[in-house]
Amino acid sequence: MTGVFTYKRRSLIFTALLLCFFLDVSAQGGAEKRPNIVIIVSDDHAYQAISAYGAGLMQTPNIDRIAKSGARFDKAYVTNSICGPSRAVILTGKYSHKNGFKDNESSVFDGSQDSFIKQLGKNGYQTAWIGKWHLESKPEGFNYWQVLPAQGDYYNPDFDMMDGSRKRFDGYVTNVITDVSEEWLDKRDAAKPFCLVIGHKATHRIWLPDTADLGKFDKKKFPLPANFYDQYDNRKAAAVQDMSIEKTMLMDYDLKMFGSKEHKDKSGNFKRMTPEQRAKMDAYYEPIEAELKALNLKGRALTEWKYQRYMRDYLSTAASLDRNIGRTLDYLDEKGLTENTIVIYLSDQGFFMGEHGWFDKRFMYEESFRTPMVMRYPGKVKPGTISDRLVMNLDIAPTLLDAAKVPIPKDMQGTSMLPVLTNKADAGRNALYYHYYENGEHSVSPHFGVRTKNYKLIRFYKRVEGWELYDLEKDPKEMQNIYGKKGYESVTADLHKALKQQINKYEDKDALKILETE
Ligand code: CA
Repeated sequence: MTGVFTYKRRSLIFTALLLCFFLDVSAQGGAEKRPNIVIIVSDDHAYQAISAYGAGLMQTPNIDRIAKSGARFDKAYVTNSICGPSRAVILTGKYSHKNGFKDNESSVFDGSQDSFIKQLGKNGYQTAWIGKWHLESKPEGFNYWQVLPAQGDYYNPDFDMMDGSRKRFDGYVTNVITDVSEEWLDKRDAAKPFCLVIGHKATHRIWLPDTADLGKFDKKKFPLPANFYDQYDNRKAAAVQDMSIEKTMLMDYDLKMFGSKEHKDKSGNFKRMTPEQRAKMDAYYEPIEAELKALNLKGRALTEWKYQRYMRDYLSTAASLDRNIGRTLDYLDEKGLTENTIVIYLSDQGFFMGEHGWFDKRFMYEESFRTPMVMRYPGKVKPGTISDRLVMNLDIAPTLLDAAKVPIPKDMQGTSMLPVLTNKADAGRNALYYHYYENGEHSVSPHFGVRTKNYKLIRFYKRVEGWELYDLEKDPKEMQNIYGKKGYESVTADLHKALKQQINKYEDKDALKILETE
């Protein structure tokens, strides 16, 4: 009896050991299969300036590479179109009123809250954020971080380091951020999956290009958008903004026409340059300034000159961004990481490229509300996928947790985009909810609203009080506010209902209060 028992026990122990071995192997195998993640977040990069979106302003072969080998989202939107808030939404998968970072003026990100990065970290991922951060508190929950203080600088940028020091790096910011990202990838523990966020400063104002790209677009004359001379009839908030190329864009700060060497020497952006960098800048901008002086332009001629200069500086800055995205993709290729790495490229929001006469963002109008977003996920997303389903930056956090097979926390408000990408019939949203809070720089009135496939309803408050309604099919440039117009009664009622539903769904108490006092 004892012998049989011993045999059975031994056999049981052996089976258990064998099971442990297999479980361990399969767990390791599972871990190996979990995808690496690279998220490249640029700043103020307009889809109008990306050739994958076909606008024709310039070629962006490297962003196009991601789109071609994966998916291009044609209807990707942000919840609050401004720098800091957008990054907080990406990190938390929650609206601004839930993650607490509502504006760039007084918000400080509470890093003790949950994020998809923390969830990935708990589940064996190595995580890092390198570059623009703009959340006013130190990053928390990352294995490594190295971030630009506030907006950061284009030339010889300072970085806040994990040891509490601030360190200056020589060179052009987009190149430096790419270098530091590669160095982190080189040093990582190759046995674990990783998630790296590369936060680029480009193409934020003041659109200062790498010296290598100066003059890249000088032979091109850019056509004015059809609504460049918008008079903002029936749109009060659009009329009171302060973000026009004509009135707001500065000749010195924005367009580098300083008038004198003394004035230029005082510019923080130029002061940082080495004598070699400065000499290249001067050699480029000084003849332009001399020509401008000789032309002595006034009125519309001057405004249109500003528009051409804006396009040339902005697109030259974007050229370096695209080249550096290519460097990151090449790195993944060279290290054999491409096949098991998700790559997402998006901007923190869209940007006006002269539409309505504007630069900047903030409004729920399409150019600012919509963001470029492309994503590749080899083996899961079919190359060349084009999606017109409604998705948001809010969805990135749950999407990546879904891909990494990490449970999505219940209080995350976004939805995984993986079903959208595999074309599940009912995936994606029927409506998008938006809320912009800031009421300062550029004088854009706070507002919230809802966008459905064909319509958009906006409620402005604080600076301007009132409603706007757009028929996006008939009026894609949003020039005709049809709120209160005859014939739209039932559409308006439906949209009010949709707006209320969205507000309740996302528990936006501030917006609800405004609706209740109507
Ligand atoms: Ca931005």
